[in-house]
Amino acid sequence: MEHVDTLITARWIVPVELVPVGTRSRVLDHHAIAIRQGRIVAIEPEAVARTRFSADQLIERPSHVLLPGLINAHTHAAMTLLRGAAESPALDHWLKAQVWPLEKRWVDAEYVRDGTELAIADMLTSGTTCFADMHLFPEVVAQTASSARIRACIGLPVIDQPTVWADSVDEYLSKGLQLHDDYRDDPLITTSLAPYAAHAVSDATLTRVRRAADEIDLPMTMHVNESHTQVVRNGERTLARLDRLGLLSPLLSAVHMVHLNQDDLDLASRSGLTVVHCPQSNLKLGNGVCPIRALRARGVNIALGTDGAASNNDLSLLDEMRTGALLETGVITWQMDGSLPMTAHDWLRAATLGGAQALGLSDSIGSLVPGKWADLCSIDLARPHSQPVYDPVVNIVHSISRDQVTDVWVAGRRLLADGRLTQMDPVDLMQRARGWQQRIAATRTDD
Ligand SMILES: [Zn+2]
Repeated sequence: MEHVDTLITARWIVPVELVPVGTRSRVLDHHAIAIRQGRIVAIEPEAVARTRFSADQLIERPSHVLLPGLINAHTHAAMTLLRGAAESPALDHWLKAQVWPLEKRWVDAEYVRDGTELAIADMLTSGTTCFADMHLFPEVVAQTASSARIRACIGLPVIDQPTVWADSVDEYLSKGLQLHDDYRDDPLITTSLAPYAAHAVSDATLTRVRRAADEIDLPMTMHVNESHTQVVRNGERTLARLDRLGLLSPLLSAVHMVHLNQDDLDLASRSGLTVVHCPQSNLKLGNGVCPIRALRARGVNIALGTDGAASNNDLSLLDEMRTGALLETGVITWQMDGSLPMTAHDWLRAATLGGAQALGLSDSIGSLVPGKWADLCSIDLARPHSQPVYDPVVNIVHSISRDQVTDVWVAGRRLLADGRLTQMDPVDLMQRARGWQQRIAATRTDD
């Protein structure tokens, strides 16, 4: 018999595959996944796996579906500390009158560590195994993610204004690229260049970001056309400007992309960029709905993000899949021209493989294939509101709740076991969150 570290049997396994839009991925009945040294060794029918492998640990999941771990392709993890603190329904007012003053007052290394830890607990307990972050003090985000053993792509912030973290574009870039070097060989932590938002960063800075990305083949991520006020700068549309500056490429994750015309859609399609769809944040801040079907019909890769907890207000990708799916059929359908709707399988693919592609990690995560990292989540469908099961992916997108996530593994390490975090103390996390709430509430102004 072959020896493996872990053998997990499950009622259903959904490997997630790259298939044409609207096509169902395979769902495997009564199969098992064998894991050795953090990687998937094989996926076999359970009876075959039990005779082929001896395992240090056998985990049986008889009423569960096993999926690739979800990939949150855009968040600001530390913003969990502002969950519910800024509730304006308009982006400009929310940012300028509520969020930025609080961040200016409170953001430091300790704030970022505590907020990021709270975010990681939020994400792991809703099936997320990898997140792409954008925040000041990225070295603290990296250190916190590494200690929690979750996978993360750390955004290296670049803006034209000085902040508590850096004084100049030179300093943002040098500190960021140093962080990139520090984690070059880390199996869990990668980096991307993160100029905050296309409309808010100068041509010169964006050009420097693009050169740095090209030199070391780093992905880039930024907010693009989140609100209608961000579409044109000095008479030039944002997508055309990014094209002129050479930033439209497969290395770019364009976050939000709510306001797009036909030319924008064509540029997105030709460039090979990824759109990171954040449906709940877009709804909550009154920005509208990303034309996801038009993008998908043009072959654009779609990933999903929660955005920060101050505009969502949680970090569950399960919710984003459902909201995205309902918006597409409820709002987008009547605007479109007969192109195929996204299925539940398409939404799951966006929340897994689509995110992996956005982060440049689709060779190593995002689907369940021998050789890839064993980043997995297990969801129990043995609940009245999740039965019967004709297709477990439909139930995952449309009928489950996050408390059905029982287990999460990252690189074969079990970070959530029977619903309990194995590497974090939720009581301590919540105590620290309450401490921040009391301090922040004392300085809040509700204007
Ligand atoms: Zn954001």
